Amino acid sequence: MIDHHQFLSRAAQHFQESAIRKTGALVGRIPDLISFAAGVPATEMFPYDELREISDELLGSRDGNVLQYGATRGYRPLIDQLVEYLAQWGMTTRPDEFIITSGSQQGLDLAGRILLDPGDVVLVELPTYSGAVAAFQNQQATLVGVAQDAEGLSIEALESTVADLRAKHQRPRFVYVTPNFQNPSGILMSGPRRRALLEAAARLDVMILEDDPYGSIYFTDATRAEETRPIKADDRDGRVIYLGTISKTLVPGFRVGWMVAPPVFAERLELAKQAIDLHSGIFDQRVVHATLVRGVVQSLAPTLRAHYQAKRTVMEQALRSHLGDRMQWLSPRGGFFLWAKFDGVDDRALFDRAIEEKVSFVIGSAFFVNGEGHQYARLSFSQPTHARIEEGVKRLGRALAASQQTK
Ligand code: PMP
Repeated sequence: MIDHHQFLSRAAQHFQESAIRKTGALVGRIPDLISFAAGVPATEMFPYDELREISDELLGSRDGNVLQYGATRGYRPLIDQLVEYLAQWGMTTRPDEFIITSGSQQGLDLAGRILLDPGDVVLVELPTYSGAVAAFQNQQATLVGVAQDAEGLSIEALESTVADLRAKHQRPRFVYVTPNFQNPSGILMSGPRRRALLEAAARLDVMILEDDPYGSIYFTDATRAEETRPIKADDRDGRVIYLGTISKTLVPGFRVGWMVAPPVFAERLELAKQAIDLHSGIFDQRVVHATLVRGVVQSLAPTLRAHYQAKRTVMEQALRSHLGDRMQWLSPRGGFFLWAKFDGVDDRALFDRAIEEKVSFVIGSAFFVNGEGHQYARLSFSQPTHARIEEGVKRLGRALAASQQTK
């Protein structure tokens, strides 16, 4: 037999399977498991009727372009719609800054491809989105964590981290942030902190990669739309690369995301993307375009906010009644995630116990690039029904009590 491992590139030898996918794979195998692991949208909120109508019209037109190869940059009328759509968050963008991606995950990969050489440093939040870590690690980057507080990334920590790196002759290329309801911590970066980050990035001369899948999912009891204003909206000198997606505001099965980048980057991103997939699915883009033109995405947004807010509240109430003060968290003001802290047990031990009780979550340490995070769990409330959330939290309470006792 051939040892195929010897043919793998150094990069491929180090590819890591995401902890989220690993735990996700469990869901199918354990009957009656309640999953707080998968951070996926609620399928009952998909606008089936509108999507069927639009698809029927597009296919009924027998216009070959609906199913033909498309432009690498993306379907131009979709880009024009996005220019208008993003203006609601104060963003002034131009079509030549855009590239449509196969989900914002591809945007993360593309950013890594054009900005990173092996060994380059990327600064990420502690904790951070594991899918971004995977994308940058695939470019053989070195990831360095920067602490956050309740207002988001700490500017002092950013400055001292960069100073430490400079002392070792290492220059970070960019800082990756998710200012709106971060995956996994749920933190909403404050307005002053956003402005301070922009100033610090200019002073330190690093780019900002801003990932914004959850900006529309703010909870109206706690947050106002202005608070989710992207950093990109105040970027006057092309310091920020911005990533958006239709995954959380329409459906993730259409792989449609977008990048807004300075034109020099946009050109390179286009070349990189050409070699990967030529272009993102044209039919997906045509449907998404029509949903924006008809206001489907826009009118769905308030319903989504109410839906996820209600689920968040159910989860918090259940945690309070079944776990008392044995878990602590900052109430998420938007997004899909509740970031829970607990004492006296390691995240992996709690996870094993939770699986016995038929409930899952993602271990906190999966989101830390510095080996920490073993006192945290990411609980996603986006998908299960209210009754399943209630029952899942009850099971989690039993798992925590049992694992704290056996310690
Ligand atoms: N960034 C973050 C922070 C996410 O949470 C996700 C989805 N879980 C993505 C990017 C990727 O989303 P998509 O590729 O579906 O747009």
